[in-house]
Amino acid sequence: MGMVSEVKLIDENGLRIDGRKFNELRPISIEVGILNRADGSAYIEWGGNKVIAAVYGPREAFPKHTQNPSKAVVNARYNMAAFSVDERKRPGPDRRATEISKIISEALEATIFVEQFPRTAIDVYIEVLQADAGTRIAGLTAASVALADAGIPMRDMIAGCAAGKVDGKVVLDLNKEEDNYGQADVPFALIPRTGEVVLLQMDGNLTRAEFEEAIEMSTKAAMFISNLQREALMTKYSRAEEREETKEEPKNGNSGEDAHE
Ligand code: UDP
Repeated sequence: MGMVSEVKLIDENGLRIDGRKFNELRPISIEVGILNRADGSAYIEWGGNKVIAAVYGPREAFPKHTQNPSKAVVNARYNMAAFSVDERKRPGPDRRATEISKIISEALEATIFVEQFPRTAIDVYIEVLQADAGTRIAGLTAASVALADAGIPMRDMIAGCAAGKVDGKVVLDLNKEEDNYGQADVPFALIPRTGEVVLLQMDGNLTRAEFEEAIEMSTKAAMFISNLQREALMTKYSRAEEREETKEEPKNGNSGEDAHE
């Protein structure tokens, strides 16, 4: 193996290994309501990441000692599928998944009007089917849309993005190689409507100026992603409304659940 510094992540034209500019996001697409059994769901593809989020609740928390008499308890569970990475990942929770579940739960609790649902639990399942760095933010982004799909009242859907440093330059939305060989990775998420930052971590080191540059880029990206979330919801619910208006008959005795094209 060569030294880390020999891995060139930005070429002489300033382009990254996947051809992106320093402040460019990977392609993102969001689909709402992909599961019929959960109260809300969403699927996101974000570069090489593929993540499903599903929501149940609010429903009475059980066992009873888990209830909080003044608010809903938000339980997010982040899980990486065994087949989501090159080296088969040992199934089940590990230290990393436990940490990510905790910070996502805390972020979601900051946007949901939890005080409206005392003694209940809101369960959020995040399943990473394919990982290529940035999965915690992709998961949180999808989970926020799934919560909206479930009709859970909140301040706004959380949106975010990571930024970091590769080859000495601050860049947006690191992919796997950049994450592995770069100098810093800063996952970041906020509530767009209020500007409140609800997730912020840093792996590696940045100067203060670099950190500010990273946050500025991530904030812009989050606002863009916030629009994608909204559009994804509108796409689902305007389609449902159209069906209602035209009183479209379910085809072939199908129960009327969303047909996917
Ligand atoms: N990863 C992996 N195996 C693991 C955990 C992570 O291959 O057990 C990869 C995966 O592609 C992940 C990336 O490392 O997306 C970066 O992981 P990190 O902990 O920084 O979280 P993320 O950037 O996905 O939020």
